[in-house]
Amino acid sequence: QARLLFPLMGLLRVALDLQTSQALFARIFEYLDLVPRIADAPDARPVRSRELGRVRFDEVVFRYPDAPPDSPATLKGISFEIEPGQYAAFVGPSGAGKTTVSYLVPRLHDVSSGAVLFAEDDVRELRHESLIGAIGIVSQETYLFHATIAENLRYAKPGASDDELIAAAKSANIHDTIVSFPDGYDTVVGERGYRLSGGEKQRVAIARVLLKDPAVLILDEATSALDTVSERLVQRALDRAARGRTTIAIAHRLSTVVAADVIFVVEAGRIVERGTHAELLRNDGVYSKLFAEQLAAAAIPEFGD
Ligand code: ADP
Ligand code: MG
Repeated sequence: QARLLFPLMGLLRVALDLQTSQALFARIFEYLDLVPRIADAPDARPVRSRELGRVRFDEVVFRYPDAPPDSPATLKGISFEIEPGQYAAFVGPSGAGKTTVSYLVPRLHDVSSGAVLFAEDDVRELRHESLIGAIGIVSQETYLFHATIAENLRYAKPGASDDELIAAAKSANIHDTIVSFPDGYDTVVGERGYRLSGGEKQRVAIARVLLKDPAVLILDEATSALDTVSERLVQRALDRAARGRTTIAIAHRLSTVVAADVIFVVEAGRIVERGTHAELLRNDGVYSKLFAEQLAAAAIPEFGD
């Protein structure tokens, strides 16, 4: 069992009927606003507004607490910097450590060595509540509470007005869908509630992130479980959500990373290549091979000659 940083994790596990620790973290992360925080250091500071959105990894080595002691570290010395407002994409094979990188930004785990810096402060020196409040996530698995859509949205911003909910839902491409439901924003969803499709749930999650308005947005394969039509709607909403904030996108489809400001190629816990799409193609290394494979597999028309 992983060392859990949250004292009420057990309670939440029951409440959310969670299955795997991977999904657990993604889901907990979305709802951290509801969870009592880890104990901060006595001198912990709130996130500073200067350089807000800058994310830096400095020689980060990370081993999961429950991994066998003689196994290789999951992250083997990762360094990168993402400028405020940049769109950074992490690509690479499954198991490379991309999701793990995203867990360390909100300090769901502590590094084994090295440091994770948020707005130039070591995350261990920040008040966790403040750190979490500055980060939003949309992952592959979205969890909706058994509650109305309006209530699900207000988890992100308890005092939000109806107008704010509607604006966020419109921006997330989900407003028209919501008003077509029997009770509109008062439709009860979640377990045993009105059933939303995967893409609808994702767009509710995006509306929630927009209400939260975080400095840093993490997208972990947010569209990987969707069909093409749904994916397009969600992708457009995500592109809008990413505007004006630092975005860390873990992308399984290279079609979503082509326009990134910077791409990090992760393999076996290391960044093996970095650069823009054009630079990496010119490099003719791991990325260009991945890209060629994707083209061959998916025959994405917009990337054909
Ligand atoms: P990716 O997102 O690139 O597919 P992950 O970051 O999810 O990769 O996983 C990287 C490695 O860490 C994998 O070998 C995975 O099995 C391992 N791992 C992930 N979560 C845990 C955990 N909670 N405990 C132990 N090992 C884990
Ligand atoms: Mg992953």
